[in-house]
Amino acid sequence: MKSHARVVVVGGGVVGCSVLYHLAKMGWTDVVLLERSELTSGSSWHAAGVIHTINSDPNIARLQKYTIQLYDEIEELSGQSVGTHRPGGIYLASTPERLDYLKQERAKARYMGLDTEFITLKEAAELNPLIDPSKYLGALFEPVDGHIDPSGVTHAYAKSARHYGAEVHCNTPVLETNPRPDGGWEVVTSNGTILAEHLVNAGGLWAREVGRLAGIELPLQPMEHHYLITETIPEVAAHGKEIAVTVDYEGNAYTRQEHQGVLIGTYEPACKPWAVEGTPADFGHELLQPDIDRLADRLEIAFERMPALARAGIKDMINGPFTFGPDGNPLIGPVPGLKNYWAAVGVMAGFCQGGGVGLCLAEWMIEGEPSVDVWGMDVARFGEFATPDYGTIKAAENYSRRFILTYPNEELPAARSRKTTAIYDRLVAKGAVMGAAFGLEHALWFAESPETAEETPTFRRSNAFPYVAEECRAVREGVGAIEIANFAKHEISGPGAEAFLDRLAANRLPKQGRLALTPLLTPKGRLYGDLTVARLGDESFAIFGSGAAQEMHRRWFEQHLPESGVTYRNRSDELHGISIAGPHSRDLLARITRDDVSAEAFRFLDIRRTAVAGVPCLLARVSFTGELGYEIYCAPQYQLALYQAIEREGADLGLKWFGARALMSMRLEKNWGVWTLDFRPDFTAAESGLDAFIRFDKNTPFIGREAALAERERGPVKRLVTLLVEADDVDVNRDEPLFHNGECVGYVTSGGYAHTCGHSVALGYVPSELVTDEAVFEVEILGERRPAKMQPRPLYDPDGERMRG
Ligand SMILES: Cc1cc2nc3c(=O)[nH]c(=O)nc-3n(C[C@H](O)[C@H](O)[C@H](O)COP(=O)(O)OP(=O)(O)OC[C@H]3O[C@@H](n4cnc5c(N)ncnc54)[C@H](O)[C@@H]3O)c2cc1C
Repeated sequence: MKSHARVVVVGGGVVGCSVLYHLAKMGWTDVVLLERSELTSGSSWHAAGVIHTINSDPNIARLQKYTIQLYDEIEELSGQSVGTHRPGGIYLASTPERLDYLKQERAKARYMGLDTEFITLKEAAELNPLIDPSKYLGALFEPVDGHIDPSGVTHAYAKSARHYGAEVHCNTPVLETNPRPDGGWEVVTSNGTILAEHLVNAGGLWAREVGRLAGIELPLQPMEHHYLITETIPEVAAHGKEIAVTVDYEGNAYTRQEHQGVLIGTYEPACKPWAVEGTPADFGHELLQPDIDRLADRLEIAFERMPALARAGIKDMINGPFTFGPDGNPLIGPVPGLKNYWAAVGVMAGFCQGGGVGLCLAEWMIEGEPSVDVWGMDVARFGEFATPDYGTIKAAENYSRRFILTYPNEELPAARSRKTTAIYDRLVAKGAVMGAAFGLEHALWFAESPETAEETPTFRRSNAFPYVAEECRAVREGVGAIEIANFAKHEISGPGAEAFLDRLAANRLPKQGRLALTPLLTPKGRLYGDLTVARLGDESFAIFGSGAAQEMHRRWFEQHLPESGVTYRNRSDELHGISIAGPHSRDLLARITRDDVSAEAFRFLDIRRTAVAGVPCLLARVSFTGELGYEIYCAPQYQLALYQAIEREGADLGLKWFGARALMSMRLEKNWGVWTLDFRPDFTAAESGLDAFIRFDKNTPFIGREAALAERERGPVKRLVTLLVEADDVDVNRDEPLFHNGECVGYVTSGGYAHTCGHSVALGYVPSELVTDEAVFEVEILGERRPAKMQPRPLYDPDGERMRG
């Protein structure tokens, strides 16, 4: 074994081998994989081997398709059979809501390059003679789905990686991983020590233990999972060709052919986390004791829909553990807080996703950024709140809901109310329907009372609709208040702070006491943030941004920090606060501060340290509602006092509390996008329109300048547009395809109902050449195409007079 490597990958399951393969293929050949036992010694050897493309995140779905297509390549390169079977996959719906879900998945496939298509139930029964078509309402068919040999795939990756020069060492457990002063890692194994420039944790079932070697806790949990293999089933034997891989959501079962019988798996609600305290070091090529009782009620439903299964004998029953992240998606990328430490963990469908994970991680390591936005898999979408306990509870929730619909307006109940603010109880008492963002509870909207504070999960407009309308009206006509504890707040200070930030921010930094919106760009010119920067002093800046992306941005800041002279802090949990907005918000503010807050004395985009409600605050004149408004940030211990003062002094001004739903509605009528939806690394500044905030003429050559300049010269290929949709009881959510003259030309990134203006609105990206003031597109919502016409100017207060007033 060599003593130095550019990368050491820990773990020889399908994920570690895929990472190794992609690194070597892309040119980093000085890479070593260390496996404690033999390859596939974790979850990988006992997988059912089913491969499918469907994932509600379109980028992950694309990567699943990439993974499946890769199998021919690695088979050819390695000479190792991967045992591919591609009978295609069918997805069955037996409720109208599930049919709506399938329509959405079909719609996304239109721009993802997938050939997913609806087939008749008769056709479905021809592809899988076991199903009783009378039990279903619809079937979606995906031709690339099938199954593979898990061991063959893992070995094919490893052999292909070796082909490019990578090394694989089995029976080499990693015992210690110690950070080195040069940013690299000392990797201590039973067979010696390797110094690595980069370390990848691909420990699968032991990812938590491998993480602890570096002092981190990953919110992962292995779950027990069963599948059964039947004896020969006459209908399968007589079929003449392989039956299609089938997912029956309401039947809670997936099936594929195995010899002349069937392999059937289920995700039982009575699920069982395995090895909660830690995966035993000596767990080897072992299986767990099957527990058929846990599955019995699920199997009964499946047998009703596939009656031949009920008559079949059971040949084998497998119970094996595999690792889930809190939301069921992988956790990949550079781990915030550590140098050159990469995660490739929590991959619960390694044979569907392993290729995509390997590709993105290798691109990230070699090229500095993945080629697509991998937010849905980014390890930074979790932070301190995601404790091991949180990981266990959420993983179990995700497992048990695998075949249960989650609606776009639905907030999942597990591990809730752990992170709350000082006014949580007050808001709940007012009827707040709560959501959780980055672990923190925040109000979505307000019902009449706590007793009625419930939202019906739906794809269509929900019971929240009239309440959100009323909240928007109150803000537009009077004054509203919203808690803003869940915004991210970053602090950058020190003698080098200005120079540091100036290199990261594409806009010019504001003067003291002022705010400025700035894009952050990657070296390739893609968006990495839309932040509001405030200069609080000569050497002190506050930065406000997406709460969800706070660890992602922390990682970006820390990655670029100079050796000395600049201090960075994520202060999101130290600064909570309340925003007030609406034409009466100035009157309200004037009542609770001694400052002169007249239009002349406290202008739009001013910020200052002061006292409001008698407590120390940061007061900014800005509001995401598009109204005259203020953001008041204070330490959590002062927030109750601020709340009480706003309540008391706002009462006769018609104060109404509003939630995130109303805020998102109001920003739509201003044509404003939001981070993680309309603004993300899939798009550039020019595409998103955020180039309006770039100052190419500033002296500092900021990150991404060259790429953004080149794009400005050639013009963006696509552009973010706002569209008015002819909708009735359903609005876009995200990811709906956009058509022009019958051809799919783009997709929606966000949308909803703009209550003040009374329009259904969609934001989405379309080719630049189609963007004219009069352009008309069509958007497909739940299977129906609806006209969507351009709205080039904001629907509400297009000149921004109200917010500047
Ligand atoms: C019953 C069952 C059915 C499944 N069916 C499917 C399916 O149909 N389709 C699908 O896509 N997925 C399926 N899966 C999931 C799939 O098996 C996993 O997603 C996949 O195996 C995860 O791979 P991995 O490489 O992340 O982890 P693992 O396979 O667990 O690999 C981790 C490796 O790291 C090694 N390691 C750990 N610690 C150390 C250390 N300190 N030093 C060196 N090496 C170390 C281990 O020995 C192990 O080999 C199934 C899983 C189960 C249990």
